[in-house]
Amino acid sequence: MPNNEEKAIRLLPVLPLRGLTAFPEMLIHFDVGRAMSIKALEAAMKDGQVLFLTAQQELKLDEPGPGDLYQVGTICIVKQILRLPGDNIRVLVEGRARAMAHEFIQGEGDPACLFAQVEVLHDEPVTAPERREQALIRTVQDRFDQYAQLAQRVSNDVVVTVASGGQPGYLADFIAQNMAVDYDVKQDILEELDPIRRLTSVIRLLTDEVEILKLENEIQDELKTQIDKNQRDYYLREQIKVIQSELGEQDAAAEAEEYREKVQALKLPQEIEDKLLREVDRMAKMGGATAEGAVIRTYLDSCIELPWGKETKDKLNLERARKVLDRDHYGLEKVKERILEFIAVKALAPDLKGQVLCLVGPPGVGKTSIAKSIAESMGRKYVRLSLGGMRDEADIRGHRKTYIGAMPGRIMAAMRQAGSRNPLMLLDEIDKMGNDFRGDPASAMLEVLDSEQNFAFRDHYLELPFDLSDVLFVTTANDLGTVPRPLLDRMEVIELSSYTEEEKLQIAKRHLLPKQMKKHGLKKTNLSVDDTVLHDIIMGYTREAGVRALEQVLAKLCRRTAKQVADGEATKLTVTAENMEKVLGVARYKDDIVSGRDEVGIVNGLAWTSVGGEMLQVEVSAIEGTGKIEITGNLGTVMKESAQAAVTYVRSRARTLDIDPMFYKNTDLHIHFPEAAIPKDGPSAGITMATAIVSALTDAPVYGNVAMTGEVTLRGRVLPIGGLREKTMAAYRAKMKTVIIPKENESDLQEIEPVVRDNVKFILAEHMDTVMEHAIDFSRRAAKKLEPAGQGEKDALPIPQATAPAATAIRQ
Ligand code: ADP
Repeated sequence: MPNNEEKAIRLLPVLPLRGLTAFPEMLIHFDVGRAMSIKALEAAMKDGQVLFLTAQQELKLDEPGPGDLYQVGTICIVKQILRLPGDNIRVLVEGRARAMAHEFIQGEGDPACLFAQVEVLHDEPVTAPERREQALIRTVQDRFDQYAQLAQRVSNDVVVTVASGGQPGYLADFIAQNMAVDYDVKQDILEELDPIRRLTSVIRLLTDEVEILKLENEIQDELKTQIDKNQRDYYLREQIKVIQSELGEQDAAAEAEEYREKVQALKLPQEIEDKLLREVDRMAKMGGATAEGAVIRTYLDSCIELPWGKETKDKLNLERARKVLDRDHYGLEKVKERILEFIAVKALAPDLKGQVLCLVGPPGVGKTSIAKSIAESMGRKYVRLSLGGMRDEADIRGHRKTYIGAMPGRIMAAMRQAGSRNPLMLLDEIDKMGNDFRGDPASAMLEVLDSEQNFAFRDHYLELPFDLSDVLFVTTANDLGTVPRPLLDRMEVIELSSYTEEEKLQIAKRHLLPKQMKKHGLKKTNLSVDDTVLHDIIMGYTREAGVRALEQVLAKLCRRTAKQVADGEATKLTVTAENMEKVLGVARYKDDIVSGRDEVGIVNGLAWTSVGGEMLQVEVSAIEGTGKIEITGNLGTVMKESAQAAVTYVRSRARTLDIDPMFYKNTDLHIHFPEAAIPKDGPSAGITMATAIVSALTDAPVYGNVAMTGEVTLRGRVLPIGGLREKTMAAYRAKMKTVIIPKENESDLQEIEPVVRDNVKFILAEHMDTVMEHAIDFSRRAAKKLEPAGQGEKDALPIPQATAPAATAIRQ
C-alpha cells in the first residue's frame, strides 16, 4: 500500500454509494450522476485519485448529509473514468483499505461535495488455530459452490477464485462483494475487523441464502408444472375441438364444456367435483352421440340435479304450526299435541338429528295429510315415497351403473324431486315392505333412517356420498306388527285411531265436502247436504275406520252436481234422505246387518285388523252325530286351537251347565265364521266361541246387543287381548249396548274414545262364568232337544257384508 494511504488520518473527498458496498482489494464499477458525486470525483482526480467510498443509509436521499452516511467505508483509487451520453460518468475503482470517517466536512462551492477525515482500519490478527481456519475456508468454499449453482448468476471466474482459496478476511470480502444481498448486510461484513468472525458471518449468510434459493426454486418449479399442465390441457382441448369439428362433433365439446361449468357451479366437495369432472371428460372423449356418451350424460344429469347445497330455512313457530294443523285437520288433538312437542324440541335443539316419526293407524285417518301439514308448518319441502310392495334393495339404493337402464334409487329420486337437502320425506306404508332373494329393503332403509350412517348415504347408481342427515323422515304404517324391529326402534310412534261417526260427520262437513267442491269447481250455492243426510251417507255408503271411502262418495256427489250444473239441468243440488239413493246409488250397508236379535248359537265377536276394528259373528250348530268337530271360515292354526280349547272347556263344565256330558260322543259341533274369504287368526275369539258352543248346546239364546273379545283357557279363565280401542269402536258402530272384555284389559279403557265409553256398557270378565252370565239368557232355554241332522242351516242369519279387503288377515 502506498505510503500516503497509510497516513493515520487523511482528508478525502467522499462519494456516497446508493445500494452498493465497496470492499478493499476489489474492483468495482458504477455510474455516477449526482452533482455532489461528480464534484467528489473531480476533487479526487486533482489529488492522487483517492476517494472515500461509503454507503448511504437511506437509498431514497438524493443529497445525503454527513448523518446519512455509514462511518465505515473503503478508501479507493480511481482507475478509469468514462463519460457516458448525458451527464453520467462510469467509474472503475479499486478498493484499498477499510477506513472510518471521524468527521465529515462540507466542501465549498455550489454544488459542493463532502470531505471526511478518515482513518485506515486494519484487520485484527488471526488467532484461531490453523485447522479451524482451514475448516472454515472449506466450509465457505463448499457453501459458495452450492450458492453459485442455485443462484445461477455467479460468473465462473468468481467461482474459481473462491475455490482457489486465500486469506480468510480476503475470502470473506470477495464473497460478500459478489453476492446479491442487501447493502446493509454487506455493511455489517465490511465493519467486521476480525477475519474469522467475518468469514463465519459470510458462511451464515451463504447458508441462509442457499435455503432461500432452494425454496425459491421449488416454488418456481411448482408454478411451472402448474402452468405447463394448464397449457397442456388447454392445448389438448383445443386439439380435441379441432378434431371434433373435423368430425362434425363440435357440439360434444361445447356440451362437455357446459357440463363442466354446471359441475363447477355446484360448489361440491372436492372429491365429488373431481369425480364428476372425470365423467365429463369421459363423455367428451366418447362423444355425446355414442351410446356410452348418452349413459354418462344421464348420469351427470342425475347428479347435477340433486339438491347438493340447496336447503330451506326451518320455520319453527309453534303458533303457526298449530294454525296449519288445525286448519287442515279436525280433531286428532293428541296427535297434534305430539307433533307440536316435536316441533318445539326441534326449535330448542336444531342440531338434534335423526328423529323419525312414525304415524300408525288404519287407512284414511289422515296420516299422509298430517305429514303434509307438518312439512308446511315447518316450511319444509314435502316428498312422498311409497314403500308398499317394495321387495328389492335396489329400489331404495338404485342399480349399479353397469346395468343397462340403471337409475338412482327411490330415495335419491325423491331428494331430486324435493329440490332441497332438508325436505320432509314421507315413507308411506313402511309395514308393507317385503323382502326376497334380491335383498332386503329393510336393511337399506335402516341405513337411510340411522343418523349414524345417513350423513353419507351411498346410492349404488350415483356412487357418491350424499348427506341425508338433515332430512326429516316421517313414516306411516297400518300395523306395527310387521315393521322390522330394528326399524321400529329408531322411530317415535304416534298412533292415530279410527274415527267415530260424529267425527266423520264433522270431518266431512268441515273438510272433505268443501275440499271436493272446490276441486270440482262448485260454489257453495251449488250443492247442499245437511247433517242428517251426511250421517246417512256415512252409515249407508261407507264402513271404514278412516274417511277415505267417504271422501270418494262425496267426490261422486260433487261430480254428479257438476254434471248437472254443466248440463244446465239445475244450478243447485240438494241432497235429501229421499233422493240420496237416486244420486249415489243404492246404499251398500243397511243398518240392520247385524240383526241385534237374540239367537241361539250366534255370538258377536270383535276382531282387529290392520284396517281397523270389526265385528264378526261366530255361528255354532250342534247336530246329532258322532262327536265330530268341524271348524270352518278360513281360520289360522292359532284360531283353530283356540276353538278346540273352547270345546274342551265346555266339556269340563257340562254338568254344571246342564249339558249332556256325552255330547262329545253323540253331537257334532260345527263352528263357522262367516266371510270365509277373509283369512282370520289369533286367540282372542276364544270366549266368543265358547259362548256360542254353550248356547248351541243348551239352546239358550245369546243377546244380540252384546259383543265380546277375549282369550279363554281350558279352565275358563279369560285372558287379555290387544287392539281394544279399535274393537270397541267397531262395537259402537254396530250399535252394541254391552261389550264384554277381559278384566286384565281394564287399564286400556282409558284409551277408549269418550263417545264409546258413554254409549257402551263394559263388562270386565275374569272367568267364563261372568261372560255367560251377561251374554246368554238361560231363562229362555228351550226344552233340550238336538236339531236333526241336515236342518242346521234352516234359520241361518244373513251374513254381514265384507267390510275389509279380502286379502287382509284378521287377527282376533
Ligand atoms: P292415510 O294416510 O291415513 O291413509 P290420508 O291422509 O290419505 O289417510 O287421508 C285421507 C283423506 O282424509 C285425506 O284427504 C285427508 O285430508 C282426509 N282426512 C283424514 N283425517 C282428517 C281430519 N282429521 N280432518 C280433515 N281431513 C282428514
